[in-house]
Amino acid sequence: MELIVARDREDLVKARRGGEVALVPTMGALHEGHRSLIRQARVRADQVVVSIFVNPLQFGPNEDFSRYPRTFEADLDVCRAEGVDVVFHPDVEEMYAPDRQVSVSAGPMGEVVEGAHRPGHFDGVLTVVLKLFNLVRPDLAVFGQKDAQQLALIRRMVADLDLPIEILGAPTVREPDGLALSSRNRYLSDDDRRVALALSRALRAGAAELAPAAIRATAREVLAAAGPRLEVDYLALVDPETFADVDESYEGMAVLAVAARVGATRLIDNVTLTLTRGR
Ligand code: AMP
Repeated sequence: MELIVARDREDLVKARRGGEVALVPTMGALHEGHRSLIRQARVRADQVVVSIFVNPLQFGPNEDFSRYPRTFEADLDVCRAEGVDVVFHPDVEEMYAPDRQVSVSAGPMGEVVEGAHRPGHFDGVLTVVLKLFNLVRPDLAVFGQKDAQQLALIRRMVADLDLPIEILGAPTVREPDGLALSSRNRYLSDDDRRVALALSRALRAGAAELAPAAIRATAREVLAAAGPRLEVDYLALVDPETFADVDESYEGMAVLAVAARVGATRLIDNVTLTLTRGR
């Protein structure tokens, strides 16, 4: 089947066939991480829609909206190779009317960890995701664990607003040396890249410890050893559903998350671990 490129809501309506629809929302500059989400969607649904939209609402005034990579033609090749049925690629005017007023609030969970460093970011994410859900009307949608707080907030939105959509999480795809794939990695020089490896190394070292204090301390040590070119925004060990800090008595799954800047490039990463009794 030919890949359909939909630029507006009429195109989307025309592209609809029967059967289960899966949506994979992206900002483009597609890489192997996005491909793994598409494959997961493909297995589960009759029709796969990939949205490619760099959402201005989720970027702060001093963030990289204008220099975010845009590689639409190459993205179409990726989508064709992965058997995607529809690419939804609206422009900003199609998504946001100049007089728009109503948006989604992520609530308190949108203001901690990543949200504490990017005010309004998760409101912008949830607003665009809800709009994409309403435009595409998928039965299921696939999101990466790479953006763990985003995934948790989307699950909360679906629960709190009774959205009839199944949310699937997909594991983080990494380079062989551990670096999590990201559209922003293309901005890293070889030197930057070596510094950036401290993120995944710190998460691995932390995850090898047993208790929260030791996990945090070990991960921090590895980050500090990377030197001053790595500017850490946060290292957090949190409950995967609420993103509240876990204490020493906590048991169960936890997320160890990090954000840091190397030069002008901001990177995030996380791992999931299990804290058990009797450690
Ligand atoms: P983005 O284009 O960066 O907004 O990401 C679109 C989707 O791809 C989100 O659900 C991300 O969590 C997911 N994603 C980004 N990087 C990776 C990765 N390395 N592995 C798995 N999923 C990813």
